[in-house]
Amino acid sequence: MSIDLSAPPVPISFEVYPPRTEAGWPALHETIRHLAAVGPRFISVTYGAGGSTGGRSLELLTHIRRETDVEPLAHLTCVGNTWAGANALIREFLDAGITSFLALRGDPPVGTAQEDMHLGDLASAAELVQLIDRVQAEREPYAEAPIPGVPGAVRVDRRAGVDIAVAAFPHGHPRSRHATEHIDALLAKEAAGATLAITQLFFDADDYLGFVDAARTAGVTIPILPGIMPITSPARLRRTLELTELPRPAALAAALETEPTTEGQRAVGVAHAAELARAVRDGGAPGIHLYAFNNHDIVLGVLQDAGVIASAPRILEPVH
Ligand code: FAD
Repeated sequence: MSIDLSAPPVPISFEVYPPRTEAGWPALHETIRHLAAVGPRFISVTYGAGGSTGGRSLELLTHIRRETDVEPLAHLTCVGNTWAGANALIREFLDAGITSFLALRGDPPVGTAQEDMHLGDLASAAELVQLIDRVQAEREPYAEAPIPGVPGAVRVDRRAGVDIAVAAFPHGHPRSRHATEHIDALLAKEAAGATLAITQLFFDADDYLGFVDAARTAGVTIPILPGIMPITSPARLRRTLELTELPRPAALAAALETEPTTEGQRAVGVAHAAELARAVRDGGAPGIHLYAFNNHDIVLGVLQDAGVIASAPRILEPVH
C-alpha cells in the first residue's frame, strides 16, 4: 500500500508519538481506532533522535499496520547515527513491513549543545532519503521501462517501492545560515527521491501558502502537506514556541490567555486550527496533516469544524 493524495475526499493524516510508559498503550490504541475510523491516508509515528524511542516507534507502527487499514508512516532520524547503523535501522523497519518513511535529520537530544553532538555519518535528511531509496532498491529493484527513441536507455519507476516524506519549514529553519537554505534543502531532498513534504506547524495560512509559492518557484514539485497543530492552552503555546523558535502569534496568545477555563481554551485552539485548515485548503493545499498529541477528540473536532468530516464516526467496542 502507498500514500495516494489524489483521491477524494480531502486527504487527511495524523502524527502520533509512542507512549512514554507501558501504561500509555491502551489509551493510545483507543486513539488510533478513533483516528483510523475517519480514513486518514496515513498515520505517522515520531522517532526520538538518537534512537531513544526506536523500539516503541516500531511497535506502534506495526500495531497500526496490524489493527487498521491505515498506512503507517515511520519518522526516522539520522543525527548521531553511523551509516551502517542507519542502514540496519531501515532494514529492520522494512523487514517489519513498514514501507513509508519521513526522513529527518533530527535534533540533538535536549540538553546537548549542537556543537557537542556527534552528528553522525549522514549530515542531512537528503542523505537519509537517498539511503532509504537505495536500501529499498537493493531489496526490490526498480521497475524499468525502455525510453522511446533512446536506444538502450531505460527509465526507472522510483515510486513503485517506498514512499519517502521529508520535513519542510514555512518560516525557515531556526539554524538556517541564509534566507533560502530551507528551500534549497527541500529541493535537495526531492532530488534525493522524496515523494512528499510535510510542514512544520505555522500559525497563519499565508505563511504556508507563501512558502509553497516560493518552493514552487524554486522548482519543488512534490506535494507539500500543511502540518497543523491545535494549540489548546497557553502552556502548550509556550512549549511549542520554545521547541520551534517560531514567532509568537499575538492574537492566538491573547485569546488563550484571556480565556479562564480549560474548555474555553480548548475551543479557542480548535477554532484557530479549523480556520487554518479551511484557509489552506481554499489556497490549494493537497490535504491536512494534524499533529494529534495522542488525543483524537481535539483533531477530530478540528476536522469537523473545518467541514472536512461530517462527524466523528461511532466506534464499536472491539470483539475479543
Ligand atoms: P535537513 O533537511 O537536513 O535540514 C533542513 C534545513 O535545516 C537545512 O537546510 C538548514 O537550513 C537547517 N539546519 C538543520 N540543522 C542545521 C544545522 N545543524 N546547522 C545549520 N542548519 C541546519 N525530530 C525528531 O527528532 N523526531 C521526529 O520524529 C521529528 N518529526 C518531525 C516531523 C516534522 C513534520 C517536522 C517538520 C520536524 C520533525 N522533527 C523531528 C524535527 C527535525 O528533525 C528538526 O527540525 C531538524 O533540525 C531538521 O530536520 P530536517 O529533516 O528538516 O533536516
